[in-house]
Amino acid sequence: MPHLLSKSKYIRGLQCDRALWLDVHNPRLARYTAEQMRRFDRGRDFEYAFKATFPDGIDLSAELHRNVDAYPARTAELLDKGDGIDLFEAGFQYDDVLVLADVVHQNTDGSLDIYEVKSGIALSDTYRRDAALQHYIISHCREVRSFSIVHAAALSDKSDPDASPFTIVDLTTELAAAHDEIAVHIAAMKQIVLATAEPDTPTGQHCLTPYACPYQHYCQTGVRQLVLF
Ligand code: SF4
Repeated sequence: MPHLLSKSKYIRGLQCDRALWLDVHNPRLARYTAEQMRRFDRGRDFEYAFKATFPDGIDLSAELHRNVDAYPARTAELLDKGDGIDLFEAGFQYDDVLVLADVVHQNTDGSLDIYEVKSGIALSDTYRRDAALQHYIISHCREVRSFSIVHAAALSDKSDPDASPFTIVDLTTELAAAHDEIAVHIAAMKQIVLATAEPDTPTGQHCLTPYACPYQHYCQTGVRQLVLF
């Protein structure tokens, strides 16, 4: 079943209804700065470094590439016959929402330890919301034993050359408590995505937090007609 929402669209929807709608119906309008692209690259490098600590990990993206709707079935197949396997970009879908988990470790009892990798040095609210969505979706598919965010160790911790570059924070209890709130957000966002009309959300401070919205040029210049047709 094709998904309606993904992790990135959910985070976008928390910031702005209109940005979510544009992400689904007209993503080519998005414009990212060179600095934003560099940040994406740094995030990817940090994620690869953490994944390298699981040398036997199976990377689903190497097999399925951009065919994201195929990830949940392949993930289920591997987990059903696996015994203590590690998966990268494991896919889970529930309630029309697809999430790809950075690192999934399967315990011998079949339960999962999930790691979401973030390159920042602080545990931001956005990281927590991202993790909460994943915990909600994956918990409806499999037993989740733990869910941790892995972020960069603070600079002071790096004075020791043997210190780990990764700080791992177990948020399992906190994330489980957020399930009801997430279900409400998902229901509202699905209505936005399925609507044919673009929300008429005015620009404001929310265009800059928590991220600089990639649709600012479009919303601020009113070039909708030129771009759409
Ligand atoms: S620029 Fe502002 S109003 Fe427009 S889509 Fe982005 S966050 Fe929403």
